[in-house]
Amino acid sequence: MRRVYLDNNATTPVAPEVFDAMQPFWLEDFGNASSIHAYGQKARAAVEQAREQLAHLAHARPTELVFTSGGTEADNAALIGIIENARGEAKHIVTTAIEHTAVLHTARALERRGVGVTYVRVGPSGVVDPADVERAIRPDTVLISVMHANNELGTIQPLAEIGRIAREHDIYFHTDAVQGVGKVSVDVEAFGVDLLSLSAHKLHGPKGIGALYIRRGTILTPLLHGGHDERDHRPGTENVPGIVGLGMAAELARRKLETEANSVAALRDRLEEGIMQRVPGVRLNGDRTRRLPGTSNLCFEGVEGEALVIALDLKGVACSTGAACSSGSVEPSHVLVAIGRSPEEARSSMRFSLGRFTTAEDIEYTLEILPAVVERLRSVTPHVKKTLVT
Ligand code: PLP
Repeated sequence: MRRVYLDNNATTPVAPEVFDAMQPFWLEDFGNASSIHAYGQKARAAVEQAREQLAHLAHARPTELVFTSGGTEADNAALIGIIENARGEAKHIVTTAIEHTAVLHTARALERRGVGVTYVRVGPSGVVDPADVERAIRPDTVLISVMHANNELGTIQPLAEIGRIAREHDIYFHTDAVQGVGKVSVDVEAFGVDLLSLSAHKLHGPKGIGALYIRRGTILTPLLHGGHDERDHRPGTENVPGIVGLGMAAELARRKLETEANSVAALRDRLEEGIMQRVPGVRLNGDRTRRLPGTSNLCFEGVEGEALVIALDLKGVACSTGAACSSGSVEPSHVLVAIGRSPEEARSSMRFSLGRFTTAEDIEYTLEILPAVVERLRSVTPHVKKTLVT
């Protein structure tokens, strides 16, 4: 059976060049980057080269990047670090209702510690209105955290405008750019961010490694206590193979950025148009143009999303109902509910996410099998309008 992977927002396969770059750092060049002997120096040089590669991609200075265990840790470190360092009794964060759980659940944990949090609402476009962010600011606001690209819808947020607002009000600005880095241009200067989270496994790097960009002069309390690694921001022996992998993934992404974005978007549009032509009762969730090139989130009226994921998997096509970490939960996606979809519509929605290795044949195969799968599921769902099944 043919296997098609359309779940690149959940994770991506490691690129062969990344795999090759990491290889020596397991068996031969296994040194601790903090050791002073030749083994250590080799590891240190590799870590610093990776930092430069990543800095180049994000338009940052290498010294402003701190390696973490991934996007979740970077988000936690940003939110908790700023709050812990902020003076005064009253502290407030402005974030949005469509954030990834790595931000959302950190914000909730901070609320339990007495921190005020405003979750800015987002309309059907899935794009935050900067004016809503500005209206949510209070005298005790210390941080604005708005994601760059939404993981379920792919919608890209107006960070430059929000960055201007944050600067005018002298408030720290964090973005979770885990989904956008390596797929579209991510520029810490253009966004005006003080903190930015990213993760290697979304851009054909390995899992369990990411980074937090910390603008020079931004002071935050470290999440972990230990040694002096990563300039005191993140103690712990550096994951050298992972860091080397992230560096190479960033280098490849930078070189391929524009051409890859265009080719992936063309395949995504072919998939979307093909589905719309062949299957009745399908609607796009979120804005059509302001989104990542490879993401398509579609509502299939009258179809249980989880059932569709399983049925497609049986035909070899891997996609998802939304965030991978929430699959298996009966709750409808908080993102789709936040943009005004009913719980039923949210449960009927599917995310197709394409990547570097998606081919035209993958899309044609998906279009070939999908209509019959949807029709069969609708025929066994009692409440589906008969007009949709014909
Ligand atoms: N933020 C966003 C937007 C994500 O999509 C993800 C992963 O799905 C994360 C954070 C978490 O990153 P990681 O898996 O590296 O912890």
